[in-house]
Amino acid sequence: MDILYKSTRGSDKKVTASQAILKGLADDGGLYVPVSVPKLPVGLEALSDMDYKQTAYMVMKEFLTDFSEEELKNCIEKAYDSKFDIEEITRIKEVMGAEYLELYHGATIAFKDMALSILPHLLTCAAKKNDVHDKIIILTATSGDTGKAALSGFADVEGTGIIVFYPKHGVSPVQEKQMVTQRGNNTYVIGIEGNFDDAQTGVKNMFGNKELAERMAEKGYRFSSANSINIGRLVPQIVYYVYAYGRLVKNGRIRPKDKVNYVVPTGNFGNILAAFYAKSMGIPVGRLICASNENKVLYDFFKSGTYDKNREFILTSSPSMDILISSNLERLIYIISGEDGVKTQNFMKELSLKGSYSITDAMKEKLSVFYGGYATEKETAACIKEIYDAAGYVIDTHTAVAACVYEKYRDETNDSTPCVIASTASPYKFARSVMCAIDNSYEVMDDYSLINELSRISGVSVPAAIEDISSAPVLHDRVCDTADMQKEVESILGL
Ligand SMILES: *Cc1c(COP(=O)(O)O)cnc(C)c1O
Repeated sequence: MDILYKSTRGSDKKVTASQAILKGLADDGGLYVPVSVPKLPVGLEALSDMDYKQTAYMVMKEFLTDFSEEELKNCIEKAYDSKFDIEEITRIKEVMGAEYLELYHGATIAFKDMALSILPHLLTCAAKKNDVHDKIIILTATSGDTGKAALSGFADVEGTGIIVFYPKHGVSPVQEKQMVTQRGNNTYVIGIEGNFDDAQTGVKNMFGNKELAERMAEKGYRFSSANSINIGRLVPQIVYYVYAYGRLVKNGRIRPKDKVNYVVPTGNFGNILAAFYAKSMGIPVGRLICASNENKVLYDFFKSGTYDKNREFILTSSPSMDILISSNLERLIYIISGEDGVKTQNFMKELSLKGSYSITDAMKEKLSVFYGGYATEKETAACIKEIYDAAGYVIDTHTAVAACVYEKYRDETNDSTPCVIASTASPYKFARSVMCAIDNSYEVMDDYSLINELSRISGVSVPAAIEDISSAPVLHDRVCDTADMQKEVESILGL
């Protein structure tokens, strides 16, 4: 069956998967969702025999139905190769009763690589299929990790250019260094004097600017998105939740049909939404545990039914989750509203006008699979230390938010369902915060020594991504005010 995509804001126009990937955002400003969620084409027992690439093909072919078998397999082969530092692409480690799904073995050592190593291939393939000859300009806002993963995926990809905006004072030193040292003649990196929400809003405004689109078209350019608003990112993220289930069956942790819980450290709600789609496909899920840092707008939403971004924006040690406007929540709102585009549009209007909206009780009832929790900075640091002291396993700050929320969940509910924790970044990416959590006497140590010390105490060798940046020259130094983002883009494209 062909799966088409429609907008969450109700316009009737349905598009194919490849068109949705090309466009990123629908014309009415909504996000694309599949008209129906396909079921897993194989039984749960069969999952345990499939490797990552086989699982990827099985899941993706159900969603991206206008790609041929050859096209999809070709994209998968190019994406999941030696850029990953383990052959399995991702793996599960059992630590203190929880299953850590290590999603950070790709080129930029964060989970964004899982989708962004395949998106450029899906996108260039989609352009060919649709006879698009414009140069595709990937316009991206990043809270730290998407930027580098997208830059690395799109660098020197023919027919594309990439422009990344990041909060100049809101990413970790490693994250910033990774981005500003990016090579490639088609890459542009710009720091903004604002936070991630400012960057994301600026980018969304440019996507919605018809006049800008016309001027770009005259020059042979068009925008697309590498953010998780693009279904070309969301669909590859479903794969690892299905794969993880198969691994747990294979290693005897569960029997087929047993339920599992997934805990996901959440910012823009993309990663956990992929888990929700995995459940809709037929993976037996108990609870989806949404873990927030001190920017706990989602925790409050699941508790009260009111989404309210009117609050202080807090810079935390898990910067990739420092987000107050979780874009992908719009897809969930659409689903629980009974796929009511008008209602969804009204909520989003309220959000942009007054910064908050409240869902109905009937909608709230449909959220029972979700559990919202949060961890303070202190709790996050304590959790890193606790797991290191007890098991010698070092986790990053984002994963620690999830681990901490999982502990609170277990204490509160006594639920002993096997639980997969999405481990979203390598501790090397946030080495200073991680090491100081383990022992605050590390505070005086320089960055280079900290990395070596992390390697020594964890027994994990320093990833290539970290070794590369220590000697790489800075190639990008643009900084602008939030109000000038479009001007920067115009100057880059010569409009
Ligand atoms: C992006 C990111 C997150 C948040 O993922 P969302 O899909 O935005 O919810 C969590 N942890 C890390 C390390 C990330 O890079």
